[in-house]
Amino acid sequence: MRIRIRGKRSAALAAFIAVAIAAPLTANAAPPGDDPKPRAEAAATADTDRIRQYEIHGPSTPADRSKIAAAGVSVDEARDHSVVVSATAAQAKALRAQGHELKTLPGPPARTSGKAAEPKDFPSDDAKYHTYDEMTAEIDKQIAAHPDLISKKVIGKSHEGREIVAIKLSDKVGTDEAEPEVLFTHHQHAREHLTVEMALYLLKTFGDGYGSDDRVTKMLDEREVWIVPDVNPDGGEYDIKTGEYQSWRLNRQPNEGGATGTDLNRNWAFKWGCCGGSSDEPGSETYRGPKAESAPETTVVADFVRGRVVDGKQQIKAAIDFHTYSELVLWPYGYTTDDTAEGLTQDDRDAHAAIGEKMAESNGYTPQQSSDLYVTDGSIDDWLWGDQKIFSYTFEMYPSSAGGGGFYPPDEVIEKETSRNKDAVLQLLENADCMYRSIGKEEEYCK
Ligand SMILES: [Zn+2]
Repeated sequence: MRIRIRGKRSAALAAFIAVAIAAPLTANAAPPGDDPKPRAEAAATADTDRIRQYEIHGPSTPADRSKIAAAGVSVDEARDHSVVVSATAAQAKALRAQGHELKTLPGPPARTSGKAAEPKDFPSDDAKYHTYDEMTAEIDKQIAAHPDLISKKVIGKSHEGREIVAIKLSDKVGTDEAEPEVLFTHHQHAREHLTVEMALYLLKTFGDGYGSDDRVTKMLDEREVWIVPDVNPDGGEYDIKTGEYQSWRLNRQPNEGGATGTDLNRNWAFKWGCCGGSSDEPGSETYRGPKAESAPETTVVADFVRGRVVDGKQQIKAAIDFHTYSELVLWPYGYTTDDTAEGLTQDDRDAHAAIGEKMAESNGYTPQQSSDLYVTDGSIDDWLWGDQKIFSYTFEMYPSSAGGGGFYPPDEVIEKETSRNKDAVLQLLENADCMYRSIGKEEEYCK
């Protein structure tokens, strides 16, 4: 309720600014450009756990941004000379105490068209997004329609006991053929619901496209595709539990001291907690957990990946981990700002970059090494490459900024913003048999 009132007020304010900049202000209207900070902070003190977005001017370099991230906030957007972060009231206070000026951004949209929010569902205007149960039903529907092409297996359970599944797509889906395998993972971060839609889009595109779309057909004939559509089902359901968005990022595992949740994408077992790219404080937006793979969801997916080692060889050759937002294609490492490091040679780096840049050309995202944004440690991409030698990318999907809806773009964009990645996904599949072909070194690495 509180959020809806605020949303209406800011919409009214925007309209007011647009048409009547020179008009006298009424007693009830905030002046144009007014920072809604006091109201937001009053709300936040009523609920100190509430996560909000703030814009901070000044940070311009990876080092600046890494320093901001060290306060335990998530850095959601990096611009030339500013960042947008998600933070609790306490974290925002700490950043202000360090001398940063924080501008509070509008909270999540209501999208209920004046209707009362329904618990455990997306707001009515965003009904095209899939809850966990709706996602499961859609997966089962696709399997029923294409039983020779699609199968799923439960690879483990979340903290609250929800099934985490891996969907396999390939011709002769019931047989483990000697074909390069490619992995797509989705929804490590709870509020990034568009990534689940990305998984369902891939499922439908591959399922329906087999036999009619030449590129899809060839790839399902010659590759084995794995989709883990929902790595963090508990967090996703929590984010919509009241029918209003909670801006939740973490899983739902309790921590000592009362704070809930681990940042799954800081919990992977490669350079875990090494480099100031995660937080050791429960309650932080980037809390890495008490040890690597302490989160059941991380372990479930890591065990699945380790299980794809056959006769001592990892079958999965390449992977994309889908996130929102900022429209980026990122590659390892995140833990260091160096282009190359132990286990990541110049050729490894160049092949990651060559294919990353090509994929970005097709979807219009910005390609860069992950740490060009800020340092992260314990991320899935670093683990996939550093531990398993799987070429790995993070896609930060639509929108490019908070102005496009941030973590909550309206459901009208789902089709456009998922299909936008079709070509990039196919490119990765087509390259997966020899990623080094992209730098002209097929002979050296792939024979
Ligand atoms: Zn994310």
